[in-house]
Amino acid sequence: MDVRYNFLNTLDHYPCELIRTLWTLQSLDLQQSEPNVPEERRKWLAMQMSTQAELLEQLTEERIKALQSHREDLVQLQGIRKRCKVVRKRQRNQAVKEKANKLTIKLNLKPKGHTQPARVQNVKSIEEEPEEKYCFCNNVSYGAMIACDNDNCPLEWFHYGCVGMNKPPNGKWYCSTQCREQAKKRK
Ligand SMILES: [Zn+2]
Ligand SMILES: [Zn+2]
Repeated sequence: MDVRYNFLNTLDHYPCELIRTLWTLQSLDLQQSEPNVPEERRKWLAMQMSTQAELLEQLTEERIKALQSHREDLVQLQGIRKRCKVVRKRQRNQAVKEKANKLTIKLNLKPKGHTQPARVQNVKSIEEEPEEKYCFCNNVSYGAMIACDNDNCPLEWFHYGCVGMNKPPNGKWYCSTQCREQAKKRK
């Protein structure tokens, strides 16, 4: 096989018309280069080759135009995809922002006296301030504790040990006669 036409095998993806023309050219060329070809035949072959060459040039130009158009399409598509990516990213960011805003609103809507914020405040007070003191002993809360049933008791909570207790009392319990009197008066 002619080395000059080796590249034909690598053109499978080209339009068949273009490839066919190239094969025809090769065939004509081979016929022309054979020994003892009559002058008339050689002339005819040369003319055929010239026609095929022109056709080939035309086909190649068409192919180039088609590829250029395809390239433009691809570039445009790439641009669209890029813009799409940017828009999608912006939307995602906005969604995250909206989610964050919703969370803030939710937190802000919680009533101030609600149990949870109160607990949070307690945690904060433990971290930042000295712990609250209770009982006659003026100490922090520990172990089993009992509450005075007088709502206005100045101390409120007492250690079992400090008030001589080892189990919960039956009924009301007051830390002092004063608290008992106060509770009675309120009723
Ligand atoms: Zn105590
Ligand atoms: Zn009391």
